[in-house]
Amino acid sequence: MTDQNLVLNTTPHALARELSGLLLIGGELRPAATGKTFDVVNPATGDVIATAADGGERDVDAAVRAAVAAQGAWARLSARERGRLLVECGRRLVGHAEEIGRLLALETGKAIRTESRVEASLVADTLTFYGGLASELKGETVPFHPKMLTFTQREPIGVVGAIIPWNVPLYLMALKIAPALVAGNAVIVKSAEEAPLAALRVIQVMNQLLPAGVLNILSGDGPGCGAPLVTHPGVGKVTFTGSVETGKIISHLAADKLIPVTLELGGKSPMIVMGDADLDKAIDGAVAGMRFTRQGQSCTASSRIFVHESLHDAFIDKLKAKVDAMTMGDPLDEATDIGTIISPQQFDRVQSYIALGEATAGAVAHRCSALPTDERLARGLFVQPVLFTGLANDHRLAREEIFGPVTCVIAFRDYEDALAMANDSDFGLAATIWTRDLRTALDATRRLQAGFVQVNQNLVVQPGLSYGGFKQSGLGKEASLEAMLDHFTNKKTVIINMD
Ligand code: NAD
Repeated sequence: MTDQNLVLNTTPHALARELSGLLLIGGELRPAATGKTFDVVNPATGDVIATAADGGERDVDAAVRAAVAAQGAWARLSARERGRLLVECGRRLVGHAEEIGRLLALETGKAIRTESRVEASLVADTLTFYGGLASELKGETVPFHPKMLTFTQREPIGVVGAIIPWNVPLYLMALKIAPALVAGNAVIVKSAEEAPLAALRVIQVMNQLLPAGVLNILSGDGPGCGAPLVTHPGVGKVTFTGSVETGKIISHLAADKLIPVTLELGGKSPMIVMGDADLDKAIDGAVAGMRFTRQGQSCTASSRIFVHESLHDAFIDKLKAKVDAMTMGDPLDEATDIGTIISPQQFDRVQSYIALGEATAGAVAHRCSALPTDERLARGLFVQPVLFTGLANDHRLAREEIFGPVTCVIAFRDYEDALAMANDSDFGLAATIWTRDLRTALDATRRLQAGFVQVNQNLVVQPGLSYGGFKQSGLGKEASLEAMLDHFTNKKTVIINMD
């Protein structure tokens, strides 16, 4: 049986075909200059659902030319007008959220009810949030000298390159394009190879309202399409979300031009459960924090859980029972909680980490949730979530980002030990602590080395909450006013001699 016969209506399949093999440059859908394409595969079935344009240097150049041509007039609109247009785009996207969510589920394997629909609606939310911040693009007057009028003003950088990953492609794209556009820049997005379609659809819908050339999107691989975008002389700023490895490459490429980069990279985020924590709430927090509904493919995943020894066994039993109760299956089925891993490469990588953990003396692998039995999903990239106990914090599974449904639960006796283990990581993206003691909570918020720290909850990033990592988790912030002002504008100081 082919993909077309799966549970669900064929609309996302038809939309995928409609968007096949296209880029969007200067307001127009067009194929790559070379005419080359690559396959887009449904990870739940292994079927090819569409192709994507394999963009390269010539397409980057065409997109930069279109963006440069459009940016001046865009910047001359009032900030409020740009903001109004972004809010209008958000409204328009609300009407497309269902269709875009289903397309996202189809190409990424993220379940429609628990992940993809939510993500599609977050895009509109983010555009609306930044659209409303347009009037904050203001400067300050500086009392430098009585006979000089001194003030600062915010100016757009020009053309921004935005390179995005596959795991949360729409929301992470929105966190880049919205502040960049409101600040008066033109943007060129480079989508991830594994998830080009839903992102293209979002940009297509926004192009119904924005002037041509202001917002463009390319698909293609990293070295062939992403790298030329970074190195193109017409691009004045790069904003990137992805792996540490690629972040470093982009940083080097950008350094040659001395242009600013924002980097949102990987994580190995700790969750500390103190002996006085509300166990049931902490379990819910672990389920949400590990993003099991996204197969753990989250940069902020709570992939190291430090549990006080008095709660350790009960924590494992209860967490396993909760995850066991989750349904793994067809991402487009409303009954599904957990979908698939994104690609065969990522699937093999996750499996190799699980095998390594299982081969480690003293480690126990608690496998959760039944794999789907539907034969139509036999080639689907499903992985049973695994909770490992008995692994030390210096084991590779506790140090390296797995980006799969694998978490290490590590017992501790003393708070200082838990904190030291939590901070003993190359990463510093997110952290949580669960306790009823205010002093412990406050102490941890000061001492946890992470850019996003939460107490007794595990919210995902929301517009309005400044987000960005410490250490190898990145450079710069997203999702906030400062992200727009600090990362998408140049600040100019003006001095007028009044004498
Ligand atoms: P990746 O680094 O492999 O790819 C990300 C993007 O970079 C893709 O569009 C890819 O084509 C492009 N790219 C690859 N090589 C390039 C090059 N040489 N020059 C320019 N562009 C290049 O990451 P991924 O596998 O798509 O995503 C997973 C990673 O993203 C994980 O490490 C995860 O932690 C990270 N991530 C971070 C955050 C965050 O906010 N900090 C959020 C989500 C994902």
